[in-house]
Amino acid sequence: MIIKPDKEASLTLGLRALAKRLDRKHLLFDQISKELLQAEAGEYGEKFIMKQLEKLSFVMKIYVLHNITLRYPLSFQIDIVVITPYEVILVECKNIRGNVELKNRPRQMIRTLETGERRIFHHPEVQLEEYVYNLKKFFNQHYIKVPVNGIIVFPFNNVRIDYEDGYFPVLTARELISFLQQRPIKEKCIDAYAISRFLVAHLQSYEVYPLCRYYGIEIEAIQPGVFCPRCQCGQMQWIKRKWICTSCLHTDQKAHLLALQDYGMLIDKNITNKQAQHFLQLSNRHVIKRLLTTSAYYKVGATKQRKYQILL
Ligand SMILES: [Zn+2]
Repeated sequence: MIIKPDKEASLTLGLRALAKRLDRKHLLFDQISKELLQAEAGEYGEKFIMKQLEKLSFVMKIYVLHNITLRYPLSFQIDIVVITPYEVILVECKNIRGNVELKNRPRQMIRTLETGERRIFHHPEVQLEEYVYNLKKFFNQHYIKVPVNGIIVFPFNNVRIDYEDGYFPVLTARELISFLQQRPIKEKCIDAYAISRFLVAHLQSYEVYPLCRYYGIEIEAIQPGVFCPRCQCGQMQWIKRKWICTSCLHTDQKAHLLALQDYGMLIDKNITNKQAQHFLQLSNRHVIKRLLTTSAYYKVGATKQRKYQILL
C-alpha cells in the first residue's frame, strides 16, 4: 500500500522557480540549472520505482512512503521507504546514465558518458549508510525494534554498472520486485502497518526554503514580476482586474498566486504590501492589499507592518 503518495519534492519546485527567475549572468546560474536537471531526473526515476512498488503491493503486504523527512538529530530526507512484514528497507534512487563505476577505496561513483566526459560523484552508499544509521537510532529512541536495511536502485537500463562489492545491494528497478519477493523469510514478523503510521506521525517538513538563503544568492539577482503561466516567457500586467500577458495576451485572474509562491520559496514566506508591490510589479497598494487578503494568506502583525504569510 502506498501510504504517502509521491509529491514533487520541495527542492525541485524551488529550483524550478529559481532557474526561472535568477539572473542569467549570475555566477550560480549554471550550477542551479544543473541541479534542477539532476533533481528532475531523480524524481523521474523515483516515480518509476514507485510504480514498480505499487505493482508489488498487490501481491505482497508492503507499505511504501516516498520523499519523507524525519529528524534524528537533524533533518534527513529519504527517497523511498519500503516496510515489509520483516524489515524496513530504505531505497536510494540514482537516476544517472552512462558507464558508472562504484569504487570502494575511496568510495566514489565515477560516471563516464559516451562523449568521454567523466564526473565524480559521492558514492550513494555513504549517504544511505548515514540514513540507515539515523533511522535505526530514531527507532531506538522510540523503543521500536525493527531491522533496517538499504538498497541502491538505478531506475533505468541506460546505465552500465561496474560495481566493487559494497555494503548494500545494487539493483535496477526491474529487479526490485523479485529482490523484495525473494528476501529471506524471518521467524519474527514486524507490525508493518503500525510502523508506517508511526513514521507518518513523525514526518517533518523539509526545510530548504528560502532558497536564496540556502544558496547564498542576493535577493536583487531574483527577477520580480508575474510570469505568464501559458507562454512562460511573457510578463503579465494587472489591467482591469486581471493579469494580461504582454507577449501572448493570455489573461488570468490568479497568476499572482504563482509569483507569490515563488517569492515564498526563494525569498521569504512572509511578505509586506510594499514588498508585494515590488515583486508583483504593481504599485497600487490598495489592489495589492486586496490580492493579498483575498488569497489564502494569513496576516501577521499590526496594520502598519503587516506581513502576509504565503502558504507553501
Ligand atoms: Zn503569455
